[in-house]
Amino acid sequence: MKKFVVSEKCIACGNCLLETKLLQEDAEGKAVPANGGYFSDDFLAKAEEIVAACHVQALSIAEGAGADLSKLPEKLQNALAKITVPKVSREDVKMHAQDYRMTCSYPQGEYRYDYSSESRAMSAAENEFDRICYSQYKKLILEVFVQYKEDKLRKFYTFDESGFWGQINKQYTDVLQEFAGAATAGGIKLPADFKEFAVFPGGSANEKDSVLVYMLNVRLKEFEDRGCEDVMRELRDIPHTSRSDYRIDMDYDDMEVYAGTSFFGNDKYEDKYCYKDVYKACEDFMGDLKNAINYVDYDSQVFDSIDTALKDYKERVQKEIAKKVALLSKAVANSKAALLNSGVGDSKAALLK
Ligand code: SF4
Repeated sequence: MKKFVVSEKCIACGNCLLETKLLQEDAEGKAVPANGGYFSDDFLAKAEEIVAACHVQALSIAEGAGADLSKLPEKLQNALAKITVPKVSREDVKMHAQDYRMTCSYPQGEYRYDYSSESRAMSAAENEFDRICYSQYKKLILEVFVQYKEDKLRKFYTFDESGFWGQINKQYTDVLQEFAGAATAGGIKLPADFKEFAVFPGGSANEKDSVLVYMLNVRLKEFEDRGCEDVMRELRDIPHTSRSDYRIDMDYDDMEVYAGTSFFGNDKYEDKYCYKDVYKACEDFMGDLKNAINYVDYDSQVFDSIDTALKDYKERVQKEIAKKVALLSKAVANSKAALLNSGVGDSKAALLK
């Protein structure tokens, strides 16, 4: 029994992939062994041709003889047991609102010398601040939560290979594929779905049926229903956060402006005022709002949902591993090849340790 080995020299030219299905393309277009790349001696001449045709000498054939196929189930058990399900801590899903942006419109009407007094200019500044920012608190809070959800939670309710569960499943699938390749090359027949490993919390990869998605959606709905009010309650506990307190960031300016001619034909001038620095107040308010978001204990509820899902996932993984090992044991027991101890290579035995 032999197998293809591909080194890092592969330049992804694709030539060898046209010659055999024992090599396949990875995400970068490079060749990788399919199902371990194992083949029997009657394919050796063709395999040597394929190896010789690789212009950068990235391909080789590993030799071996004499391992016992009946040990495959035990080795499979050990290989699958080595894969660890990553821990998820409270910190992993903690809300750090400062990491996310809040956007408000840019203030209008600054530097217009339209006001007859400093206090009128400052009132207008406060109104503008309220219009573009202070009254928009719901929009600003939800903007942060959308980013938080995308950044910290999306992977938990994404069920393809890019998601949290899919990435772990992929590790199990890779091991199963390798063992399936070794078993098949040794003459052991396995069911077609032996290589599949699709375990998800709640038992379903369908977003609509997923218990985890349901739980996270409940949390997000709760937040949308009352979360903004919770944040505003926290904000009120932070000193100097009423609307007028932000006047401290804003400023005014004054100048003499032409006001027509007097009864005696002389030019008339009067003092006029404008407002400025409204955006400074907006930035200050958005900083306070982010602090208030951090104070709401929302993320620990999210963590509890994910932790429950993780426990469920681990139990299902153990059951699936037991199922796969039992399948392989049964297939080995049914195989004449296993009884005859008929030759999985040492290289494969090493690979499957
Ligand atoms: S022929 Fe060689 S370089 Fe080209 S894809 Fe195959 S291994 Fe890589």
